[in-house]
Amino acid sequence: MSAVQLEPSLDAAFVVRWIALLDDRVTESEMLLTELDAAIGDADHGANMTRGLHAARTALREGEPDGPASACAAVGRALISAIGGASGPLFGTVFVALGRALPTSEQVRADDLVGALREAMRAVQRLGAAVAGDKTMIDAIAPAVAELERRFGDGMPLAGSLSAAARAAHHGALATIPMRARKGRASYLGARSEGHQDPGATSSALLFETLCAAVQR
Ligand code: ADP
Ligand code: MG
Repeated sequence: MSAVQLEPSLDAAFVVRWIALLDDRVTESEMLLTELDAAIGDADHGANMTRGLHAARTALREGEPDGPASACAAVGRALISAIGGASGPLFGTVFVALGRALPTSEQVRADDLVGALREAMRAVQRLGAAVAGDKTMIDAIAPAVAELERRFGDGMPLAGSLSAAARAAHHGALATIPMRARKGRASYLGARSEGHQDPGATSSALLFETLCAAVQR
């Protein structure tokens, strides 16, 4: 059997699995996300993400998407309309961009997903203008995407590559602690934003953790 056949099938059910896992993890972490945002923002990140992921999960249940691209697009739309604020459009854009970048077939390949994740990060950066080191979700997403491309490019299967990417995202979220925020609400605090972990980077790490789990199943 070739390596390609060993790769998991990435269909609409895979996205449904990913969002269900993410909804569960975000709900479990709601208090943590709220506390992180209370320190350097307005204490709504936990509630925002919980509301958004519940809405996304419901949208998938009701929409019966015919492939991973349309499933991601539905998730993006649900996140944008349910969350609002700064993070609704930003997290929503991750999925809207995945929806645009993935082929519109019933199943996509592992390399399609890897490429689409890079596109999703670019779209978030076009919208929010954050670069690595600004203390935002990009500080979790950028190292994760880089690690994913490196491992997958070296020939590691998707599941293992995503597991390394998820670790990189968690390290990236921790690495925001000493940073001074240069984007979003936390940037108003200037030096007082130092010493706190960024809430959006923390929830972005959950996004990669659950993506990895959804692929492994
Ligand atoms: P709000 O700031 O509207 O209260 P949330 O509290 O839900 O929204 O989300 C805050 C998170 O959004 C931050 O922790 C940060 O990671 C992310 N964020 C804010 N601005 C930007 C930006 N310009 N680019 C990328 N991420 C950003
Ligand atoms: Mg907030």
